[in-house]
Amino acid sequence: MSVAIWWIRRDIRLSDNKALHSAAALGEVIPLFISDPKFSNASQNRTAFMYRNLESLNSSMNGALVYKLGNPLEQVIELAKQTGATSVHVASDFAPYGRKRDAEVKKACEAIGVTFVEADSPYVIAPGTVVKDDLTPLKVFTPFFKRWLNIEWSNAIEVPVRFADATKHSVGAPLIPAPTIDLPAVGEQAVLDRWDSWAETSLASYKEDRNLPHVDGTSRLSPYLRFGIVHPRQLLSRLGSNQGADIFRSEIAWRDFYADVMFHRPDTASENFQTKMNVLPVDTDAQALKRFQLFCSGNTGFPIVDAGVRQMLATGWMHNRVRMIVASFLVKDLHVPWQWGAKFFMQHLLDGDISSNSHGWQWTAGTGTDASPFFRVFNPISQGQKFDPNGEYVRQWIPELRETDPKSIHEPWSLGLLAPSQYPEPMVDHALERLEALSRYKTVSGK
Ligand code: FAD
Repeated sequence: MSVAIWWIRRDIRLSDNKALHSAAALGEVIPLFISDPKFSNASQNRTAFMYRNLESLNSSMNGALVYKLGNPLEQVIELAKQTGATSVHVASDFAPYGRKRDAEVKKACEAIGVTFVEADSPYVIAPGTVVKDDLTPLKVFTPFFKRWLNIEWSNAIEVPVRFADATKHSVGAPLIPAPTIDLPAVGEQAVLDRWDSWAETSLASYKEDRNLPHVDGTSRLSPYLRFGIVHPRQLLSRLGSNQGADIFRSEIAWRDFYADVMFHRPDTASENFQTKMNVLPVDTDAQALKRFQLFCSGNTGFPIVDAGVRQMLATGWMHNRVRMIVASFLVKDLHVPWQWGAKFFMQHLLDGDISSNSHGWQWTAGTGTDASPFFRVFNPISQGQKFDPNGEYVRQWIPELRETDPKSIHEPWSLGLLAPSQYPEPMVDHALERLEALSRYKTVSGK
């Protein structure tokens, strides 16, 4: 019987997994995970979350996982030679480093007569697939989404899986870094349980509630999608056809869209998508660094901004509406490069993903695709009042403001001498910084 390697990367699950099932269709499967030293600086909490999910997957496979540490190319080739595997099956990676790595591994596999099968992707529609009639990529979400909706996709055809006993080639178990936060539940079942309970109570009202950070209005499945504990296909298959479901589908498409943009423009992981924005003056001096540090500790004096940052530091997740407010504040009130914020988010988010994160930042910074224009500056006070009208979210994350009344909670300084003394004064005057941002924008717009 032939043996096939299933090289696990961002698809830590058994169900609806085309890479696994394409391997299983050929013979016994050797599940392989390689710790690549290239990622040794990745967020400790995100890494711990990934390994715990891997551990859970391994117990579902009765301990069949082969774990390796080191250069992926060398490790794959070594295992193929050790076991006589005739093929290696993966879900394609579309991020810049992964693409280069896979191209090299494919070449090395082929050189020894092993087939490298790219059988799946972490997306509903693989990046590079949705194109205009003239085959060029789409740069705006709405037309992308229209075409995306018309492309057919299918769930994996599942076949019985037999795992080979190849654990003698394993180098033991990964050393899981100690998380500094309580991690969410792990494993495929945890995702489906969360989906079932959330969708039953909240999907129908997703359109309205998804903007309210104090409400359990969004699925919170992003960390699981990040590591393929669930495939987005599995969620789309479970969606009904109400308005909430339609919006949810479009959010999944945003994830595909940003991966597609990154596929065509890998430079936008750290460079402006709109190169005309390169001339926008940003602050990077010692004073900017000091301001950035205050921001990163959740002490700007703007409650909704600080609540968001503190939520992320405490849980590894931040509500989407608040991500936008926080990002806008850093870029347009503190005039700091969006890249600093993106890096900070990548250090803390369990769902930290290069394409969604860099393009989420660029969208807010007005440098990206479909951008909210730079001159539209979020007001952190009115955003707070609109989306957290009673201050419940702020009160949850900022204990200093727990006793503050709903009317003043988004601008506690308005209480004058009665303002809570432990909470900082606003670090900047938003009205002035808005004007400063607009005046800087003149270097780009010429007006
Ligand atoms: P839901 O509302 O339940 O949405 C379902 C899924 O759709 C999400 O899990 C996610 O996979 C996808 N999705 C939803 N909104 C977006 C979006 N705007 N862009 C791309 N995909 C989306 N998302 C990440 O997964 N990783 C990141 O590193 C990341 N960084 C971001 C940084 C900024 C500055 C901003 C504004 C947004 C960022 N997002 C990122 C997008 C979004 O905030 C999160 O996907 C969402 O908050 C996750 O919560 P949820 O699973 O409850 O979302």
